[in-house]
Amino acid sequence: MAKQGTAKAGRAAEVPALVLKEGREKSLLRRHPWVFSGAVAQIYGSPQSGETVAVRAASGRFLAWAAYSPASQIRARAWSFSEDEKPDEDFLRARVVDAVARRAALALDSNALRLVNGEADGLPGLVADRYDDLVVVQITSAGAERWRAVLVDALQAASGCPRIYERSDADVRALEGLEMRSGALAGSPPQAPVLISEHGLQYAVDVSTGQKTGFFLDQRDNRLAVGALCADRDVLNCFCYTGGFTLSALAAGARSVSSVDSSAGALTAGRNNLELNGLDASRAQWVDADVFRHLRQLKAEGRSFDVIVLDPPKFAPTSKDAERAARGYKDINLHALQLLRPGGYLASFSCSSGVNADLFQKIVAGAAADAAVSCRIERRFHAAPDHPVLLEFPEGDYLKGLLLLRQ
Ligand code: SAH
Repeated sequence: MAKQGTAKAGRAAEVPALVLKEGREKSLLRRHPWVFSGAVAQIYGSPQSGETVAVRAASGRFLAWAAYSPASQIRARAWSFSEDEKPDEDFLRARVVDAVARRAALALDSNALRLVNGEADGLPGLVADRYDDLVVVQITSAGAERWRAVLVDALQAASGCPRIYERSDADVRALEGLEMRSGALAGSPPQAPVLISEHGLQYAVDVSTGQKTGFFLDQRDNRLAVGALCADRDVLNCFCYTGGFTLSALAAGARSVSSVDSSAGALTAGRNNLELNGLDASRAQWVDADVFRHLRQLKAEGRSFDVIVLDPPKFAPTSKDAERAARGYKDINLHALQLLRPGGYLASFSCSSGVNADLFQKIVAGAAADAAVSCRIERRFHAAPDHPVLLEFPEGDYLKGLLLLRQ
C-alpha cells in the first residue's frame, strides 16, 4: 500500500503527485505509459479517479503527467512525458485531431476504420471506431472517463460524424471501478445496422448489440489476403462471427465454406451479410457450435479442408493467463492441422496481449509437432494499419497470425 503524503511534502504542491519507489522509474523513462500500483511509494494530495497527477521518481525527478486510477492495478496511465505539457482540454482535442488525421492519410479501402487506438494514439483507455457516419466509442480507463465530454466532442468535430454511440461495456471497466455504459451520445441511436464496405464487400454492423464495437476492423486486410487463397477450395472458418472471412472466401470463388461460431446472433448476421452481397448461399454452411468440440467431431467424421481459419477470441488478456491460453491455442491448432489436406493453408490468429508473437509461434509449432505435420510459414499477419502499435508499448501489439502451408 502506498503511503499517503501531505501536499506540502510533494514537489508540486498544487497538483496531486505519485512518487515511485526507488528504481521503478525505468519503464516511464522509456515512455511506457503504465504505472503499476506496486511501483508507487507515496501519493501526495487526494487525487480523484481520473484526475491528472504528476508522476515523479524517488529522486523527485518529473516523469509524466498521468491519469490516476485508484481502483486499478494500473494505478496511473501517462498522458504526456514532458512537464510543460500538462493535459488540458486543448491538449486532448489535439490528440484526437492528430489521430483522425493520421487515419485519413492511410486512405483505406473502407468506410469503417479505427480512428483512435488507445495508448498508440496517446489516449489510453479510448477506442473509437468509425462505421460510415457513426462513431462508436469505448472508454475503459478512469482518465478517459473523466475527460469523456471533451473527447466525445472532439471526435464528433474531427470525424464530421453526426452520430456518436457509446459501447463502454467491456469487462475491463470493472477493473477501473467504472460502471458499464452504452447508448447514443450524439445524434439518434441507430435504428438499423450500419452498412459498411470493406475491400468491395458490404457488411451490416449492429453497433448496439454486436461484439466489441460491432465489427473486428483489425482483420480487414487479413480477410482479403486469406480470401485470395480460397478459389475452388473447401474452407473451414472457425470463430466466424458475422462472416468476415467467409464472405471474402466466397467472393474469391471458394467451392464451399463452413463457418462455425457459438453465437447464434452472429451466425444470423453472417447469413444476412452473405445475402447482402448476392453471394451463393448454397456454398455456405453455418454451424452453431463450440469450435473445440466441433473440430473433434469433424475429425471423427473423416472430414478435411483446403483452407482453415482460426480466429478465436482473446484467451489471455494479460501475460498471467498465458499458460491457460497456450493450452487453448494448442488444442485448436492441433485439431485444425489434422483436418488440413496436404498443400492446404491454416490461417491461425491470436488477439491475446498476454501471448506475444514468439510464444504464439512456439505454441503452433508444438501443435504441428503433436499432429505430426510439417508446415512452412508463408506469411505473418498483423492488425490493419489503422490499429498502430507504440514501439514502447508492446502490450498494444495484440493481434498476430501465421499463414501455414501444410507440406
Ligand atoms: N473472424 C471474425 C472475428 C472473430 S471474433 C471476423 O473476421 O469478423 C471471435 C468469435 O468467436 C466471436 O464471434 C465469438 O462468438 C466466437 N466464439 C467464442 N468462443 C467460441 C467457441 N468456444 N466456439 C465457437 N465460437 C466461439
